[in-house]
Amino acid sequence: MSNRLFNFNPGPAALPLEVLIQAQEEFVEYQNLGLSLMEMSHRSAAVEQLNEDTQKLFLQLLGLKKGYHVLFMGGGASTQFALVPLNFLPPYAAAEYILTGSFSEKAYSEAKFIGAARLTASSKNDKWSKIPSMNEVEIDRASAYLHITTNNTIEGSRYNELPTTGDVPLIADMTSDLLSRKLPFQRFAMIYAGAQKNLGPAGVTAVIIKEEMLQRASSSIPQILRYETFVKHQSLYNTPPVHSIYMMKLVLNWTQKQGGIDQLEQRNTEKARLLYDVIDASGGFYQGIINKEDRSHMNMTWRMASEEMEQRFIAESEQNGFEGLAGHRSVGGLRASSYNAVSLQACKALAEFMIEFQRMNG
Ligand SMILES: *Cc1c(COP(=O)(O)O)cnc(C)c1O
Repeated sequence: MSNRLFNFNPGPAALPLEVLIQAQEEFVEYQNLGLSLMEMSHRSAAVEQLNEDTQKLFLQLLGLKKGYHVLFMGGGASTQFALVPLNFLPPYAAAEYILTGSFSEKAYSEAKFIGAARLTASSKNDKWSKIPSMNEVEIDRASAYLHITTNNTIEGSRYNELPTTGDVPLIADMTSDLLSRKLPFQRFAMIYAGAQKNLGPAGVTAVIIKEEMLQRASSSIPQILRYETFVKHQSLYNTPPVHSIYMMKLVLNWTQKQGGIDQLEQRNTEKARLLYDVIDASGGFYQGIINKEDRSHMNMTWRMASEEMEQRFIAESEQNGFEGLAGHRSVGGLRASSYNAVSLQACKALAEFMIEFQRMNG
């Protein structure tokens, strides 16, 4: 294992080594059943058990009890951008969207294909460098829902304060911060997250829906696109991505073993502080992009004096065993994504590398 890299990939991202090893051990034969999990019927007892256990564990980790459904769907978080308005945006109402980065913008533009989507607030004119002030957010009480993105993976910002929505249901894309920090999860009518950041490998999207919200869902769209269908059939209406669900289950077990969200949040705060401290102490050699109070603890972004210097940083980081530090192709710069599975040790090593790189190049 000595040649495993320090993995700061934005997604698909680092997985805990012990999860990979367990998956390897169980790959050919699952639970002494004579078959690989990938060769079994999704109607088999083993897969049904896996599905049920993973749903339960999810709610347990989020501290949610009765009145919620956990669904496992394909198509990535991007499919949810369309499914949310298809299910919840009726022709007589509007939906509200707060734009804080390019994923939220994509969600908004999909909704516009389906119905009336209202731009409630946006930080686009500030180049996504902050989260709009929640005091200025005004929500129409008749709106079908408000959609937010709690952590902006590409830009490197996050919400610290949630909008007050009254009776308007709050829906969140939590793809890049679910299970990384405490949030008042019970305030959300629906949460969704593509697995490949904090939850497992790509291929499955976790959706958590409040029972009351489900009541509002449209039944005039094709069955395969309805949340109701997935609830009614426990996500087994058609063949689910069994292997991805299995991997997610292992990651959730690992999450629980780490002490759950509380412990991981502390560790993530410490990891983020290590890197932001280097940025802030660098006298402008590393330039943070996001307003300090809105900085993400999952995706740390910064720029350097020239693109040439940034390229040199990336090249040398790779020579030193660091993976995935280039910023998103749409924005450039640098980004270190330190999801739950990225160790404190990896962040310490990166902080030291950054200090040394500045000493040599500053
Ligand atoms: C990665 C990401 C997405 C896109 O996820 P896909 O599974 O690739 O569709 C959407 N939203 C956020 C916040 C993300 O981080």
